[in-house]
Amino acid sequence: MDYRRNYIKHLLESQPKQSVSAYGWVKTRRDSKGVHFVQINDGSCFADLQVVIPDGAIAEDLIKRITVGACVRFEGDLVESPASGQRVELTAKHVEIFGDADPVSYPLQKKGASFEFLREISHLRVRGNTFGAVFRIRNELSWATHKFFHDRGFLYVHTPIISASDCEGAGAMFTVTTLDLENPPRKNEKVDFAQDFFARQAYLTVSGQLNVECFAQAFTNCYTFGPTFRAENSSTARHLAEFWMIEPEQAFCDLEGNINLAEEYLKYLIEHVLQNCAQDLAFFNQRIEPTVIETLEHVRESAFERITYTEAIKLLEQSGETFEYPVSWGCDLQSEHERYLTEKKIGKPVIVTDYPKQIKAFYMRMNDDEKTVRAMDVLVPRIGEIIGGSQREERHDVLLHRIREAGLPEEPYWWYLDLRKYGSAPHSGFGLGLERMLMYVTGMKNIRDVIPFYRVPGSAEF
Ligand code: ATP
Ligand code: MN
Repeated sequence: MDYRRNYIKHLLESQPKQSVSAYGWVKTRRDSKGVHFVQINDGSCFADLQVVIPDGAIAEDLIKRITVGACVRFEGDLVESPASGQRVELTAKHVEIFGDADPVSYPLQKKGASFEFLREISHLRVRGNTFGAVFRIRNELSWATHKFFHDRGFLYVHTPIISASDCEGAGAMFTVTTLDLENPPRKNEKVDFAQDFFARQAYLTVSGQLNVECFAQAFTNCYTFGPTFRAENSSTARHLAEFWMIEPEQAFCDLEGNINLAEEYLKYLIEHVLQNCAQDLAFFNQRIEPTVIETLEHVRESAFERITYTEAIKLLEQSGETFEYPVSWGCDLQSEHERYLTEKKIGKPVIVTDYPKQIKAFYMRMNDDEKTVRAMDVLVPRIGEIIGGSQREERHDVLLHRIREAGLPEEPYWWYLDLRKYGSAPHSGFGLGLERMLMYVTGMKNIRDVIPFYRVPGSAEF
């Protein structure tokens, strides 16, 4: 079995030819007057390969085992297909069955199973149409991300997953420990993490940003792309406890440059998906969200709207809408507010800047008004916030003051403060949640359906 064998994608694109092999899993099977029609898929593209088994070509005992879900290899001739929608099909002469699938118990047998049900069989759902399309597009977004940054001279850096500092100061972190949970060492009534593996309390990172900032002050342009973890107990359709984030960071870059990079990057991803994922996108447009392609084509062409937080609050106050969370200057923007702005009021992506310092992280650069910081959130229809970023505070004294003001311990940030002592550069960056982006380009409604194996409060199976 050579890894260079033909994938179904290649077979479907090739001219008729004799003696080819096709590998895959059986999607459907239909029998008519001794002739059998089998569709197989190997994940290489959305379309299945149609295999026609002429009457008597394959022994009956083998035919019986070609059931939905079975893993097979067909050998035969690739011929022009009389059926519409496909150029070629395979006339089978032989079958090899690698793995049977009991048609009675195979859980993907049913058509039209709900996404909720499919989440309970995450190990098998990837063989279905929807998830095939989701994960091919996820793959393309990842690849396009590397291409985008690499082409622009950004260094890809692998920031650590275990971290001692709480990047956001939000406190929603998972502790990483080897202490005996039944009987942890204690000091002054509290668990004594000095005796733990890292000789201190350590966490799963919520963001690679603080580390990537060190690299930006040596390599100028860099980015990290890895898993991040949030222990917030929110079971929404847009939050995961483990998700993947792309975080570019640039030295010699202010908020304006940061916003321009974010807009260019999002448009690049959209263009890439439109160019390279046409079949999968057509499926989403037809079956999941009828506005998906139209939206992407529109966004590709239009300039993102840019407004300040203060202007956003005015628009919300004048909206005449009744929101669950009332609006006033100083409040955090909730999903309903974000969606009103980007969906109803403006009708395209909006970048909101200059938020009150109280609702943003300590490292964002203070504006001269001393009330707002150089933050920016990119909001898109259907999703709300897709990117969060800022220009970073590069002044040592201001940063130290902000850490104290936020009530954070100074000690874990000594090295982060050091960056501001030695050759501090003005710099900016942002974080894009890969799964939010994938929801946006596919129209999938629940974030649990765009990550291979989801982790949320109460669930980490598979
Ligand atoms: P939100 O307000 O939507 O909870 P946030 O402000 O906490 O997000 P940031 O800390 O700014 O998010 O993270 C940057 C990006 O990471 C977000 O814009 C979003 O795309 C993504 N993101 C944040 N939290 C999650 C999560 N729990 N699950 C999936 N993606 C997330
Ligand atoms: Mn944010």
